Amino acid sequence: MLTNQHMQTTNPLIWAAGDVTAHPQFTHLAGVHASVAASNAVLGVRRRISPVIPRVTYTSPEVAAVTSGESGQSVTSRIVWHAHLDRAVTEDRTEGFTELLVGRGGRLLGGTIVGPRAGESLAELSLAVHKKLTTSDIVGTTHAYPTYSDGVWNAAVLNVRERLKSPLARTAIKGLATLRRLALDARRISSKPGSRPQSDARH
Ligand SMILES: Cc1cc2nc3c(=O)[nH]c(=O)nc-3n(C[C@H](O)[C@H](O)[C@H](O)COP(=O)(O)OP(=O)(O)OC[C@H]3O[C@@H](n4cnc5c(N)ncnc54)[C@H](O)[C@@H]3O)c2cc1C
Repeated sequence: MLTNQHMQTTNPLIWAAGDVTAHPQFTHLAGVHASVAASNAVLGVRRRISPVIPRVTYTSPEVAAVTSGESGQSVTSRIVWHAHLDRAVTEDRTEGFTELLVGRGGRLLGGTIVGPRAGESLAELSLAVHKKLTTSDIVGTTHAYPTYSDGVWNAAVLNVRERLKSPLARTAIKGLATLRRLALDARRISSKPGSRPQSDARH
């Protein structure tokens, strides 16, 4: 059954949710559809469904993925192999990886996680993609250690480090460091004995 982004069918008095629609068939999606369809039908509001749809395949290891549903953006990929993830190493489950898809300005556009509890680790990434967060937002959030979600954090760190190497970021960092050095030098000079400003020395 065809629906628009408000879950309304071609009959404006009928809304639909779940497997009966043309959307992917997931329990979590059916629940979100039902909430949107019911509030739009009953309250007359215009809530929209999100194009961000997480999916998990419960194999061993789990495979979990999410995308923003947007197209036409330039995307880079950052991968952390779980052979370098401390939790995976301590549990001897290093067979997976975490991949982030990153757009301009570090915006998170999606990712794939393969490994134990990949579905749980995907929750943070789904929220980040849904809320249009950046890799800097992930990096600036303290993550408990050691967890499988460290894969998302580590991959975000790779992207932030890379962005800090851009000519603009390098110039800004150099400029700040120079200003800081000048300020510290000025403070050191003014705190030396006998280095009071001349206007004071005349009195
Ligand atoms: C084997 C299997 C495993 C799955 N595993 C997952 C999973 O791990 N994760 C996940 O997200 N999704 C999974 N899914 C998909 C998920 O079950 C569906 O996407 C979800 O149940 C859709 O919800 P729904 O409410 O649209 O439909 P349903 O859950 O199918 O509910 C429809 C209800 O309508 C009733 N019904 C049908 N016709 C009539 C009628 N004429 N009158 C009254 N009642 C009627 C049915 O009996 C049923 O109770 C799985 C599906 C299958 C088949």
